[in-house]
Amino acid sequence: MNKLVYSMPAHIVMEEDCLYRNRSFLAGLGKKAFIVTGRTSSGANGSFDDAVKALEANGQSFAVFDRVMSNPTEVCVYEAAAECRKASCDFVLAIGGGSPMDAAKAAAILAINDIPREKLFNRAFTSALPIAAVPTTAGTGSETTPYSVLVDTGSPDEDRFPDGRGAVTGQAKRSVGSPLIFPRFAFLDARYMRRLGRANTINTVIDALSHAVEGLLCVRANYLSDALAHKSITTILDCFDALLSFPALPEELPAEIREKLLLASSTAGMVIAQSGTSVVHSMGYMFTIHWGTDHGRANGLLLKPFLKWCQAKEKADPSVKPRIPVLCAALGTDLDTFCGRLEALLGRREKASETELETWGAAVMKNAANTYIQPNQGEILEMFREAVG
Ligand code: NAP
Ligand code: ZN
Repeated sequence: MNKLVYSMPAHIVMEEDCLYRNRSFLAGLGKKAFIVTGRTSSGANGSFDDAVKALEANGQSFAVFDRVMSNPTEVCVYEAAAECRKASCDFVLAIGGGSPMDAAKAAAILAINDIPREKLFNRAFTSALPIAAVPTTAGTGSETTPYSVLVDTGSPDEDRFPDGRGAVTGQAKRSVGSPLIFPRFAFLDARYMRRLGRANTINTVIDALSHAVEGLLCVRANYLSDALAHKSITTILDCFDALLSFPALPEELPAEIREKLLLASSTAGMVIAQSGTSVVHSMGYMFTIHWGTDHGRANGLLLKPFLKWCQAKEKADPSVKPRIPVLCAALGTDLDTFCGRLEALLGRREKASETELETWGAAVMKNAANTYIQPNQGEILEMFREAVG
């Protein structure tokens, strides 16, 4: 019998005014919340005020850390954890896109574990504060995953963009994975995405799509992750026409499209919580680290070369258990048609130098093991060339 493990302990609620209506869940997490969020968006989209309203109605106090940058660094999460500890908070409430949610997860560990960076990345901890998450982008699905993806800068002071947003050349994206950082509660309210602009909406949706597609093509994929991936893919594809004709004002994108995207993104999070991600994510991290490319777009640039490579490998080697037909069944079309539609969403591609690609190819090899067919270094380089060469 094949072994099957499925774990997704986050309790999800999705409805309008979700936080306030379900504030009793927060009440059970402790007396004082540590709100972790980005610099501006949660204030502008109403999620921060809703969280405060819910906490106050529960008689809970809170402290706030609102300095999470996109692609958060480990420096940022150590700062957040120190503030959480100083404020004696009982639980962490993450509000924002994947960046604040991931920073919140790491801060939840570090607030009660006095550990150096290597022990964080090597999971040498046995406790974390409880976490609740309010996603305000529909992409990462971090509200339903046990991962916190951070930029490991190696050196605290020197490794940021000049505007303080994130990491620069030479640093690595590393993941902390532990069941201890699964959010206990995920509050899904698509209204917060009403004013999410075209680029952020599309880039984050492509991330969710990538999670679901890659989830089918991972060593750790299983019966249940496949079922969730199928559902997530069909839901996202239902929204493709609306995304391709994105309106001039983001708030004109129909509310039901926003809702579908949020649901599909959380579902894709459930997929990678089981399956993990493939070499596409490892390769995409290079674009983000070195060029600052948005995480979802980085994956999107690589999907076509990766999928075409998988298809060719399956055709060439009868010993490979075919997965592309499973993917095409979910896509409801052939690979070329799907890739054509994805290209339309991505628009003009970035260009890399051959030297960049060779350096990245070597770095990615270390993280290719979860892909259902193992690419060698030359094949990774070729996929990079097709994506941005
Ligand atoms: P993000 O970095 O969280 O946010 C991108 C931008 O969108 C920020 O400028 C943010 O502003 C803004 N924003 C967020 N919500 C908004 C809203 N409702 N309306 C208007 N603007 C809004 O982007 P993301 O793609 O969601 O997250 C990417 C990160 O997640 C990466 O670090 C990636 O590695 C990680 N990730 C994690 C997992 C996981 O399983 N844990 C999976 C995939 C990706 P503010 O800064 O002002 O908030
Ligand atoms: Zn991702």
